Amino acid sequence: MSKIMQLVVINISLLITTLSYSQNTISINEYTIAVILQDTALSIDASLSIENCKQQSYMLFNSDISDYVLRTNDNNFNYIHKNDTLFINSSIDSVRLNIAYNIPWDRDTCLIVEDELQRIRKSDEFQVFFERYYRWYPLLYDNFSNYKLSVTTNSSFGVFAYTSADSIISSGNRKTYFYNFYDEDIPFLISKLDVFNYKTIKYKGTNFNFYFLENTKRLLEVKNNKPIFTVDSIKVDSINNHIYNRCIRITQWYQNNLKQKEIKNIDFIESTSPHMGGFGLNNLIYLNTQMINYDLYYKYQISHEIGHIWLGLNTKYKEVGRNFMSESINEYVNLLLYEDFFGKQEFDKLLKKEFISSSSHFSCSLKEVLNIRKNFNLNNQEQVNIDVLIYKKGPLFLNEFRNKIGKEIFLKIINDTYTQEKKLITLSDFESNIKKHNCWKAYLELFELKL
Ligand SMILES: [Zn+2]
Repeated sequence: MSKIMQLVVINISLLITTLSYSQNTISINEYTIAVILQDTALSIDASLSIENCKQQSYMLFNSDISDYVLRTNDNNFNYIHKNDTLFINSSIDSVRLNIAYNIPWDRDTCLIVEDELQRIRKSDEFQVFFERYYRWYPLLYDNFSNYKLSVTTNSSFGVFAYTSADSIISSGNRKTYFYNFYDEDIPFLISKLDVFNYKTIKYKGTNFNFYFLENTKRLLEVKNNKPIFTVDSIKVDSINNHIYNRCIRITQWYQNNLKQKEIKNIDFIESTSPHMGGFGLNNLIYLNTQMINYDLYYKYQISHEIGHIWLGLNTKYKEVGRNFMSESINEYVNLLLYEDFFGKQEFDKLLKKEFISSSSHFSCSLKEVLNIRKNFNLNNQEQVNIDVLIYKKGPLFLNEFRNKIGKEIFLKIINDTYTQEKKLITLSDFESNIKKHNCWKAYLELFELKL
């Protein structure tokens, strides 16, 4: 995920200690969310089948959701929704809960895209971005491990998720996409399809599908430290062609340097959503216009997101080193790509300017980097510091490690760590592969450094 997103301050308080409820956690057997895109609202219907649900239980439930209708099969059921927790008292062990609410189309909902070009937004031009930190998402993580999601839209819209839909059912001019998700996060985008200037390029068995916006702006050049943009469609097309080729080259680099994957499709989706700079999850690369323009200048943003096809997925949520495994390693491998593309001199320049200088206001140990985790309860400055640890200091420690053991062995360790059959990758997987390649001593030396 990008830096831009992490700057968004979201007030999620995960545990309430002021109420006298004990730690009665429930287990959720089945969790189904049906999302229907309607003319003036998103209608959300969450259905849960809960076990071990007795007196004084609780589950994490998004505080941004209000005005919902809650139905249950327990006549004596009562609940208090406070902050991000739903405290429940139930008279039976197995309860079915149904929570229904609407999210109206409104600029304040955080769901509708602001148009960067300040054109008057026509109602037929929008995209809706879903991500767990925003207000739509009913149940927060920690309660579940898998759930079924269906999204119904009219057929002029497309639904883009990080995994392809298990099935799509059409009925009249409505389409429903069915998914089964296992991860803590289920980002996806609903977008009007005719906003895109769609282009697909087939290269070595992979379809590169570019859903770039028809009305967008691109960075033309930087003059006297000022960016100059163009909205001219011929110029935008020519810049886009350059980006398409770049995306293919980047993907080939990962295919050649990490384990080769059979990839049938990669979808690149452009959005103007201000909430998220970009992300890569499986074969979905989501890029906002601003990030695409950053990449035209800095040249290491899009490659970070593409790197997530190989690295950083499915890292265990509660483990030490979680964000190091999910982001720092991906960012450092991305820098190795940068080095191959632009040479050692440019690599050193980038490292100095964007990593060393920009994080020189404090120094830290590797242990601190491993222990840090993203936390959306914090204020803006605290979040920025967490990002410095994850995105700057983490790669700097990895650079020290690479300098000790060499690029080739470094990439072997990374490959062996992230290509295991098991679903969740942890720091201990990384460490056991370091031992396997006889680099343990060099790794331990990193803990004596302050960077
Ligand atoms: Zn990332």
